Amino acid sequence: MRLIFVGPPASGKGTQAKKVAARLGVPHISTGDMLREAVAAQTPVGRKADAVMKAGGLVSDEIVIGIIEERFAKPDCRKGFLLDGFPRTVPQAEALDRLTEKMGLPVQAVVHIDVPDAVCVERITGRRGCPKCNAGYHVKFIPPKKPDTCDVCGTALVQRPDDTVEAARKRLQKYHAETAAIVPFYVKKGVVRRVQGDAAPEAVLADIGRVLA
Ligand code: AMP
Repeated sequence: MRLIFVGPPASGKGTQAKKVAARLGVPHISTGDMLREAVAAQTPVGRKADAVMKAGGLVSDEIVIGIIEERFAKPDCRKGFLLDGFPRTVPQAEALDRLTEKMGLPVQAVVHIDVPDAVCVERITGRRGCPKCNAGYHVKFIPPKKPDTCDVCGTALVQRPDDTVEAARKRLQKYHAETAAIVPFYVKKGVVRRVQGDAAPEAVLADIGRVLA
């Protein structure tokens, strides 16, 4: 299956996308993850993206479209894909259209996970992660047993640099100003399936299963 997951920051789309991709046996393609890897490896793309990401801005269309083109060239995408965090602007959606048309593999469904802004801000600013084993926590909703310490490996937890209050507000503002416009773009194609993301993760996952059935 060929899918896109779209939703505001901290809508839970990353968590859900990983589960759904594993269930469907298709690659989970997250431009956010790929950009964070590029930043960590200090590649030319990573060096360009670093400051923009920390401030909660959007990396240029040219860079992310390039990343997706490279990823789509890998053979595993022939069996399908789940895009998480791409496209984030109408020009990116148009570029994706051209690419999938060329491959003869059009997008079949866009899962739009809707969550109110106030919930997103609370989720984002409380989010913490383990830099060693990648376990995820939230100071209020999924607190570690010992404050600021990973339950699994005992490493000190960190906050993503773009999870501060200021960067969270900027990311939400960017979502409404630029990314939300891709929903009507895909509504016109008749492929949008909306789910309410302001619920327990298992309930949201079940809902996604229902809209994709
Ligand atoms: P995410 O992990 O999806 O929340 O993405 C983290 C950050 O990576 C975003 O706030 C952007 O700075 C950048 N990013 C990820 N995907 C894109 C994209 N498709 N277009 C522009 N910037 C992106």
